[in-house]
Amino acid sequence: MKKILAVIFASVSLVACNNSTQTMADQNAKFDAYKANFIEGLWKLNPGWASSAGYHKYDSVLVVPDEASRAAQIAFCNANLDSLKDFDINALSDNNKTDHRMIENQLKATEWGIKDGKAYEWDPSGYNVAEGFANMLNNDYDSLDNRLHNFYLRLAFVPAYYEAAKKNIKNPTTEHTQLAIDQNLGGTSVFEKDLQDALQKSGLDVQEKEAITARAKEAADAMKGFAEWLRQLKNEDPRSFRLGKALYEKKFDYEIQSGYTAEQIFDKAVQHKNELHEKMYGITQQLWPKYFGGKAMPSDKLVAIKQMIDTLSINHVQPDSFQAAIEKQIPELEAFIKEKDLIYLDPSKPLVVRKEPEYMAGVAGASINAPGPYDKNGNTYYNVGSLSGWPKDKAESYLREYNDYILQILNIHEAIPGHYTQLIYANQSPSIIKSILGNNAMIEGWAVYAERMMLENGYSGGASGQASPEMWLMYYKWNLRSTCNTILDYSVHVKNMSKKDALNMLVNEAFQQQAEAEGKWKRVSVTQVQLCCYFTGYTEIYDLREEMKKKLGDKFNLKQFHKKFLSYGSAPVKYIKELMEQESK
Ligand code: ZN
Ligand code: ZN
Repeated sequence: MKKILAVIFASVSLVACNNSTQTMADQNAKFDAYKANFIEGLWKLNPGWASSAGYHKYDSVLVVPDEASRAAQIAFCNANLDSLKDFDINALSDNNKTDHRMIENQLKATEWGIKDGKAYEWDPSGYNVAEGFANMLNNDYDSLDNRLHNFYLRLAFVPAYYEAAKKNIKNPTTEHTQLAIDQNLGGTSVFEKDLQDALQKSGLDVQEKEAITARAKEAADAMKGFAEWLRQLKNEDPRSFRLGKALYEKKFDYEIQSGYTAEQIFDKAVQHKNELHEKMYGITQQLWPKYFGGKAMPSDKLVAIKQMIDTLSINHVQPDSFQAAIEKQIPELEAFIKEKDLIYLDPSKPLVVRKEPEYMAGVAGASINAPGPYDKNGNTYYNVGSLSGWPKDKAESYLREYNDYILQILNIHEAIPGHYTQLIYANQSPSIIKSILGNNAMIEGWAVYAERMMLENGYSGGASGQASPEMWLMYYKWNLRSTCNTILDYSVHVKNMSKKDALNMLVNEAFQQQAEAEGKWKRVSVTQVQLCCYFTGYTEIYDLREEMKKKLGDKFNLKQFHKKFLSYGSAPVKYIKELMEQESK
């Protein structure tokens, strides 16, 4: 009897084994079909989001943000959360596993936003139609006449949109109310000016032009009416712009998708700030005689560091060679990475450096311009801004910020091996889910991690093979910015930090200019959690690397680690970590 059972078991497990390969193929094929379905549903429900992702099938529709639209969102979330349960996550490929979790997170986050977060009640700045319409005029995805036709159909929804907004708003915060007033009044120029310019260039006949102009006027009136309504809104005890601990922690979980809680990340950031200060003070002591001779060093550590930073910031390029300086560094970064064998760079995909296009003019610095998920063959550009035409003192202050040291770190972050390199790898395991729902903490965290990794390996040190103390000091200052972003965000929203204390920290502990600090305060009073993504992602990636080093000992190889890490695409670091740990077992 025992023997028979054993035979039966053996054959069962044999069948199970054959089945499981089959099941995996089935499950993955089924999941791919599910994803296509999910995305189509997502776009239908969110035509504005679809349009900005380059999917224009629903351009003629503007969703009126009423009770019915929220019910439709909830129904979509429930139906899809149900569908997701049908898949055995262990049977999915790594790419599908992470897609599965990212979709699930997106659905739960949406549901949470409607039921608990309720920003549609207290944040009036969430209501603004200008950007969607502006994109239809500025982006060249279809003929102008076709775009204008959809523009016209979409305009019909605007008055109802603002009526619904007024019904939704309850006890809004003062900060978001003011922002909504400013942005809606500013946004009317799309209908009053940009549209007229577009109509002149179009082939529409006079009647069509008149019809669209009449509707555009109604839309602009609705925007102004909304701003005026907000201005007169009786709101004697406005809600605080501070999110509070309970909502903040949840929002952090959904948006950052970290392996740490918000509180753990905050504690880590505070500790990191103190460590950075100690390191910076050590370098300041070391460099002091070189730059200040016999002059006594201030007894306050932070004051001494600040004087050293100010002195080093004088080393910067001239305004007219700003672009050239950035362009010159790209091949240097590539050569260094090859020489040190840090990461594989695909030679068939060189970065196209270009002067920033006309429509972006006035934005200095550098940024990556990547093609969207529906424009796979488009080029990736490195837009480099020019300072031409800037007033002298504004240019000088900007160049001190982006001095010879920081400019190199900026290039590492934005281009190689930062955002640009990460993007190339992400495109190798194509996932439309990850290009739509890509995790910002992973994306920004990688770029911030890359900065430190390059200096650790001696970038900028030339023949000495080591980055100079000056370079490290400036790097630490740069790193303090993302560290203090996290401290600021958590302190303000959870710990009730005052504006005075916030500015004091940014200016005296993170060594920022007063104007920069004021801007940061403005940002933290109308956003939540977003400012944490840089430090959180960086910390998780760095910790993962150190953990792998320990585990693998002599067998650890930095290039392999980078290749493996990036191969999972823009997924949250905690999932990448899980998969890498499994693999290394
Ligand atoms: Zn200067
Ligand atoms: Zn970045």
